[in-house]
Amino acid sequence: MMYAKRLDHLPPYLFARIDAMKAEKRAEGVDVIDLGVGDPDLPTPEYIVDALCEAARDPATHHYPDYTGMLDYRKAVAVWYKKRFNVDLDPVTEVLALIGSKEGIAHVPEAFVNPGDIVLATDPGYPVYKTSTLFAEGELYNMPLREENGFLPVFDDIPSDVAKKAKLMFLGYPNNPTGAVAPREFFEEVVDFARDNEIVVVHDNAYSEVCFDGYKPLSFLEVDGAMDVGIEMHSLSKTYNMTGWRIGMACGNADVIAGLGRVKTNVDSGAFDAIQRASIVALTGPQDCVDDACRIYQERRDVLVNGLRELGFEITAPKATFYVWLKVDDSMKFAAKMLNEAGIVVTPGVGFGENGEGYVRFAITRSIERIKEALERMRGLDFETS
Ligand SMILES: *Cc1c(COP(=O)(O)O)cnc(C)c1O
Repeated sequence: MMYAKRLDHLPPYLFARIDAMKAEKRAEGVDVIDLGVGDPDLPTPEYIVDALCEAARDPATHHYPDYTGMLDYRKAVAVWYKKRFNVDLDPVTEVLALIGSKEGIAHVPEAFVNPGDIVLATDPGYPVYKTSTLFAEGELYNMPLREENGFLPVFDDIPSDVAKKAKLMFLGYPNNPTGAVAPREFFEEVVDFARDNEIVVVHDNAYSEVCFDGYKPLSFLEVDGAMDVGIEMHSLSKTYNMTGWRIGMACGNADVIAGLGRVKTNVDSGAFDAIQRASIVALTGPQDCVDDACRIYQERRDVLVNGLRELGFEITAPKATFYVWLKVDDSMKFAAKMLNEAGIVVTPGVGFGENGEGYVRFAITRSIERIKEALERMRGLDFETS
């Protein structure tokens, strides 16, 4: 079959290869501990599932949904943003329902990037920033995330001709894969840089509710001027263990929202109304389930981080996200050793971009018992750490 050239330009999908290796190990009878997947192991809270079941039985939800989302869903998003971040959003013009935030990230370059335009994206980063840029025939400029800069991009390092030609910027804090968080001053810098260079900012905030030690992540939209330069992609996936439901939201600048909306009108027909109704229940109901999940992740994080330290690794405990980003010599070799010698799946950092080399990502989306078992198995390996 002759595929279109754009498929040849896609980076090799490392995660598919890891899945194949994992399946192979399982077929050999290995009890694989999968710390690779960024998908909560905990179920969606029952009252949200009940709301979906009830809504799905109402034939009114069986038709094509509104392209932009139900007004009541968009209102619930606005109320949640106000309560959580003290951000004011007009539900009609500044909120758009998404079929998961991945969908919004995948479509947004179509609205703002002409062939050859530059898109700035963090590296390492969520792989969809790059692939969506490639699909829009934009030119990618990687903003490296380095430990010495707190895994934040340094705008002074971006050549001014690149900055001038850039149309769009992707970034997201709390960050996948590094687990880093961004201070308010950094978001202020983003606004200044975007304003000076007329760049549309797409901030990806999927992990704002997965946080520890009393730390509360910000919304990019909290910062003065952010509403003028960009939007924030958010989602119920990580907050309410709803990754399979495919529901999210784009919030912020009305013109950017309108551009993304125009693309979406032509490629999808909205999110299932029953899912939107259940999402209203999630966003406006009691939020204890969110606190409970954070407590569980924090306990797992502590077990993993302390265990890795006991094994001789130097590691920073993340303040948010369910990822632990560990410095290693060679990310592919480390991940292969973990799988082949201990039956543990971790994700090589290079899968998130060239600047992810030298790290692996652990996802704490498994029980304490499994994390302890993984550490026990690691005790038997020779990592040559000092
Ligand atoms: C999980 C994730 C998303 C996408 O989540 P959806 O399920 O599509 O809403 C977006 N960005 C990052 C960084 C993620 O880790």
